[in-house]
Parts: sequence; C-alpha cells; structure tokens
Amino acid sequence: MGNSELAQLKKSFLCKNCNKIRIVQLQACVRECDCSEELHFTSIFDFYANLYFHLDNRNYADYETICNEFSDEQIKEKADGLLFHHLPEEALAAYSVNSTDYLQLIMKLFRKTVANCQTADDILLVAVNWLFYLSNTMKELRKLQHHDSYFGRNLAPIPTIRGPLLYRVDSSIKAYLERFEAIVDPNYILLRKKVYFFLVREEYPYYNVTHKYIGLSKRWADIDNYVGNLSFCFFSHNFSLLKDYILSVKDSDDGNYIFSFTNIRSRKRQEYTEKFQTTLAKAELNFIMAPELSTPIDSQRYMIDTIKQQKKKNLIFAITGSFHVREGDISLHPQNRERIYNYAQVVNQEGSTIYDLYKMNRFIIHKSDKNQAELPIFVEKSGTERNAYDKRDIVLFDTLLGRIAFLICVDLINFSIDEILIDRQVDVVFVISMTPNPAGGKFIRKMQELSEGCGAVVFLCNNPGSAKIGDENLRGLAHFPLIKKLFKTHETARIYTLEEMLYGQTRADRGE
Ligand SMILES: [Zn+2]
Repeated sequence: MGNSELAQLKKSFLCKNCNKIRIVQLQACVRECDCSEELHFTSIFDFYANLYFHLDNRNYADYETICNEFSDEQIKEKADGLLFHHLPEEALAAYSVNSTDYLQLIMKLFRKTVANCQTADDILLVAVNWLFYLSNTMKELRKLQHHDSYFGRNLAPIPTIRGPLLYRVDSSIKAYLERFEAIVDPNYILLRKKVYFFLVREEYPYYNVTHKYIGLSKRWADIDNYVGNLSFCFFSHNFSLLKDYILSVKDSDDGNYIFSFTNIRSRKRQEYTEKFQTTLAKAELNFIMAPELSTPIDSQRYMIDTIKQQKKKNLIFAITGSFHVREGDISLHPQNRERIYNYAQVVNQEGSTIYDLYKMNRFIIHKSDKNQAELPIFVEKSGTERNAYDKRDIVLFDTLLGRIAFLICVDLINFSIDEILIDRQVDVVFVISMTPNPAGGKFIRKMQELSEGCGAVVFLCNNPGSAKIGDENLRGLAHFPLIKKLFKTHETARIYTLEEMLYGQTRADRGE
C-alpha cells in the first residue's frame, strides 16, 4: 500500500467508472482505470447522490467504527481541521444551492479538501462530513415554502445520476412521540437515518409508487404546538353481515365461491350515514376514517356531501370507508364497466377526493363452523373476494404530519408493500380493514416491522364483520413505533386525541 493507491482513491470518488470503493482499505476504482474521466454532475443533487452512493455501505460502518474510538470532541476537531475550516462561508452563501456556480464551488472545495488528506481514515472522515454538510445545507429546500420552486409539485424523488434521491419529511407526529418516549432505533447505523436526502429504489415489483406534496392550509403551520390534541375518530357501525349485507356469490372453478357485496340494506345505510353526519359535526375532529366494506358508493357520496356542507375548518382529511363498486359507477371512462373494485376515497376538508384508494390484493374467507352466525354460506365452502387488482398505484403524501400512506386491509400484510414503505421512509400509515383480528398475527407483525424499519405510526379502522360487542370486535387501533402496547377501541364513533391514545402506552405513563 502506498501513495499511488491513496492518490487513486482520492480521484475515484468522482470517476465515471467507479462503482465501489472501500476507503479504509484503499480499494479504489478498477485497476486499469486512471480515473481521469469524471462523472458529469448537473446539480448539487447529482453530486450529493454520488457521494451518498459511495458511502451508503461498509464505508459508513467504517466511519461509525472510527467515531467509536474517539470522543465526539476529538472527531469534531478532526473534521474542523480537515474540512470545515476550509469552507469559505461567505462565498458559499452567495450562491443559491441549486445553481451551477454553487455546484462548481462545492466541487472545487471537495477536490481540495480530499487532496489534503494524508491517510485513508482522513479521506473517510472528510467524505462523510461533506455529505452531512450538504445534507444540512439542502434540508431547507424540503420545506413547504421552498418546495414547489425547487422540486416542482410532483418531482419527488429527484432524479440523479445515481438514481432517485428522496428527502426525509419532518413529521410532526414523530417529533411529538419522541417527546414521550426515547425511540431506540435498531437501524441507527444506517446512513439514511443520519441525513435528510437518501437514494431509493427506482422501481418495485407489482406496484407503481409516486409522491404527492400537499401543503396543508396555513392554519396548520404551527402544528408542532398541538399535535397531541389532534383528534381522530375510528368511525364504524354495528352491521350484521347476515342481516344487513346483500351478498353476491358465484361458483368458482376450484369448487369454492367467488363473492362480493352488492350493497347494505337501505335502513342500515341511512343509520350509518346519519351517524356520520352527527359525528363529523363534533367540534374538534381532525381525522375521521371508516373501515373496509362498510360504505357503499352512494354512502361514500353522501359522506362527501356532508363534508362539503359542514365546511369543517379543523378537518385534515377523511377516509370514506370502502365497498365493492363497479368501475362503471366510479369512472367516466371505464375500461370495463362491470369490473369490481374494493374502493374508498380520501377526502380533504373541502370535500375533494385527493386519493382514489383501491385494494390491490384480495382476501379469502376460509370455510369454517365459525362462519355459521354471520356468513353461513362459508361453512361448507371457502369464498374468494371478487375484486380486480389492476390499479396498482401507491401514492405517498408528503405533509406537515409526515409522509403518509393509505392502504386497505390485506395490502398491509402483502409481502412487498412494507418494503416500499420502509424504502420511502413513510411516517404514518392509515389502514382500513375488515378482519376479526386486526390486533393479532400478521397485522401486528407488519406494524412492528414498519415501526422498526421506518418508525411509522399505524392507525387502523376496522369492520369486525359482526354486530356482536366483545373483546374481538375491535373498531380502531393505533400502533406507535417501538411502543409495545397497542391503543385499541371497541367504540364506533368516539373521538380520541393523539395524547389520549398514547396515554398509558408509554413507559413514562406506566411509571417504568
Ligand atoms: Zn476510475
């Protein structure tokens, strides 16, 4: 090992041919390359993404290892000497962060500070601190007031030469939780947890993922001050599947049934929508969500009209609850009028639908004696839900509350959706479901995985599929990251604040 390796390592950061370096071992570019051909960077995001790409692996683990061998003070001193003392603050502040002049200046300073390094450890320290520096400089760009002008309304992630670069959203809900309970993140060594911008996968199998930025109205600008008072309603109704639902059943090729629900009997539907009207009228309601397969399309329209009429300033959004609908009922230009979807709507305070929520996987009611009371037809034979799953767009909403996802029931437990939510660092997940056991088995396992992978809070509103009141008939639950105890409710229209849901769940409240 000698100077030539050190020299090549310094050049390989910007080399076009270099896809893998291991800094502390002086493993630079491929041997036959002289690293004279540089990558072409068109923006600071390109430059940052390339640096992130080179560090987001064992190099960052090496950095953390070195940090453990020195005190924070010593590391800071080294970083100052090698990097920060060489940054001309005034010159840097003179350019706007997304200008070419700024990029040129950064590249010049980067080359200079790397060139001054005497050892591989120094190079690592400089490279990582450059990333931190740029991440901090760029973080303001994510904010509401700057967002549109820098990224365009829908330009997230930002395309770069190293792939899509996404930013972490400041989540007021997460910040609030951290005040309650120190969140010990099992993934603390991941570079993406230390910076505001990180690379994500370009594509995912079976799902198309897009991001939408929604600036909540100005009244929420100081949301951090009252996050704990935000109020949620897990809205539902005591329906009997046997007496209130109109079921459509066909024989399937495998000897079982294919089923869908055609409607809910009108008297019950009326009770349900009237109850919605009264619940929505309560003063401080910020979120209301109804469960899966409880809101036929006419009831969805009624709910939306109610939201329009009541003009509730405090409403952040509502989820209508889903039902089986024909494409002809919801689309002006249907591909197939009779095709059936399990469909709900996410609605803003003005009553505009901001998201058409489709279920993308189906569920099966397994034959069992337990079905005797509510769905006796499925005692002898199993039933497969009849719903199309060709609409496979997941939209993630970036808001002041954090990055939000909406899902219907089994989509949460489908194998690859959690990978998407973790890769894109989602903060809040709203799930509407119809299951006898939302607080057990697979649902809880996925909630725990999400809380560990991206610290997501999950709010779930459930239709237990039975009018019986009892322990198993859960209507709502909330899972908070790394807090073992769940918030659960059997109530069908009660309103809870976030603080109430957390009360008794955290270690501090339990006196531990
Ligand atoms: Zn090279």
